[in-house]
Amino acid sequence: MYISRVLGGALALAALGQQVPPPPAPAAASVQAPAPLRPPARGDILRGEYGRYRANNDLLFYRLDIRVDPERKSIAGKNTIRFKMLTDDSRIQLDLYANLKVDRILMGPTPLKYEREINTVWVDFPQPLKAGREYTIDFHYSGIPQEQGRFGGISFKKDPTGQDWIFTACEGEGAAIWWPNKDQWRDEVEKMEISVAIPNGLTDVSNGKFLGKTDLGDGYTRWDWRVQYPINNYSVSLNIGHYVHFEDRLGDLPLDFYVLPGSLDGAKRQFAQAKPMIEAYQHFFGEYPFKKDGYKLIEVPYSGMEHQSAVTYGNRFANGYLERDWTGVGVSPKFDFIIIHESGHEWFGNAVSAADVSDMWIHEGWTTYLENLYVERLFGYDEALKYVNGYKTKVRNRDPIVTQRGIHRTPSQDMYFKGALFLNTLRSVVNDDARWWKLLRDLFQHFKYQNIMTEDIVRFVNAQLGQDLTPVFNQYLRRADLPTLELAFNEAEGTVAYRWKADEREFAMPIRVGERGRWTVIQPTTGWTIMKTPLKKDAFEVATDLYYVNVTKQ
Ligand SMILES: [Zn+2]
Repeated sequence: MYISRVLGGALALAALGQQVPPPPAPAAASVQAPAPLRPPARGDILRGEYGRYRANNDLLFYRLDIRVDPERKSIAGKNTIRFKMLTDDSRIQLDLYANLKVDRILMGPTPLKYEREINTVWVDFPQPLKAGREYTIDFHYSGIPQEQGRFGGISFKKDPTGQDWIFTACEGEGAAIWWPNKDQWRDEVEKMEISVAIPNGLTDVSNGKFLGKTDLGDGYTRWDWRVQYPINNYSVSLNIGHYVHFEDRLGDLPLDFYVLPGSLDGAKRQFAQAKPMIEAYQHFFGEYPFKKDGYKLIEVPYSGMEHQSAVTYGNRFANGYLERDWTGVGVSPKFDFIIIHESGHEWFGNAVSAADVSDMWIHEGWTTYLENLYVERLFGYDEALKYVNGYKTKVRNRDPIVTQRGIHRTPSQDMYFKGALFLNTLRSVVNDDARWWKLLRDLFQHFKYQNIMTEDIVRFVNAQLGQDLTPVFNQYLRRADLPTLELAFNEAEGTVAYRWKADEREFAMPIRVGERGRWTVIQPTTGWTIMKTPLKKDAFEVATDLYYVNVTKQ
């Protein structure tokens, strides 16, 4: 997904994604969740909690079939929702913004009763539904969706030549801003169909494989798309405009590009970066995860968003990020930040997804680290190290990265930059690249198409490395402060004492110290250890480009 604000100015990044059947409710975190900045309101609970009427069912399939009227800026249609009941119950929770009208909700021919509360729609069944059985309902709705939030949620705009340009980017606002669904992160449909009727002459690019278009004979044409993988609600997208299309292939993966006619030359030049980008990520993690749906880049007027298999792009067909050097160290001008970041989310965000917004670093921290892997693959290790350390100026260390779950509160931007720096630190902790590359690939392959929490990653890493790094994860993700390596020199004795100062009492992490190029690995804990060193205080270095830590010397 995207970053909305950055130190020193209004910047935008974009990215995200997701996928499969709901995992069990999360186990209690080993550390208490941070207190929210403000108490959650009823709307936050309705939006974020995986409560009884969400947990009682498992989504299987959506068929979204809508008509979009650019003149009235309206949508009308239905979402057919198939789900399996997990417990006997007679109510489920769906979501649709309050300003949109529920026309009717049907199970077969039978109208269902419903109640609306803020942006939630409680759907009631005349008899209890039975655990283990599958049910299908048709949710008919209509109205004029209201644009809001950084990327608008849904926007009815004009392109530079004055023609209609309509697009969605609703990760923050939620998909219920423009269509009815079970709007949460834990549960995803396994497949989806998207049919969009629009005035003749316009093109709709949505997610998945393009099936074809049908002239409806009334001035409208229906565009049909099929998503053959689990997909998160916010990733489902409309991109409606006077697009031109060109294509390419990477092996048997179709690459499809949709841009405004005036952008065609720039796009043909800039989108050539898609192939080496996909190859780089495939090198580290394995095959592009949505192969049957293909890979698409679609021009939009905002910076970009990782809509699954239909990544949107608005980075001015230039390298860097909105023509800036994104990490300020001369590396990002070598590539198109939005192509590399948003597409990285196909692996982390869309294929491996967080089950709660609280753990969104699984999307953003990982994808920001993926940028770094891309740089390493294309431009070498030194450039990658420079690039990731460039992110330090964007970290604030004011709030923990993982937020309180169940209230849909987006974590601080540290989830991007500190998240990536933490993963780079973890690589140094492993201190064996063969093991590190295997860990990354195995982790992706293990969690692909799942919705997971931080605990799942910690458990996996601990098991694969055969050591308990839980306090390290906790310090970086569940605490605001960095660990500090305290060094106390006794130059007369030729010794240095060292220990970690950290909120996690069990915090212990190896680190390289001494002389650059001839590092000594020490194993500090939160208790003092003394070692001999021929180095004076000023000459004694710590590998802070490999480990994101504070250091004090006395
Ligand atoms: Zn992102």
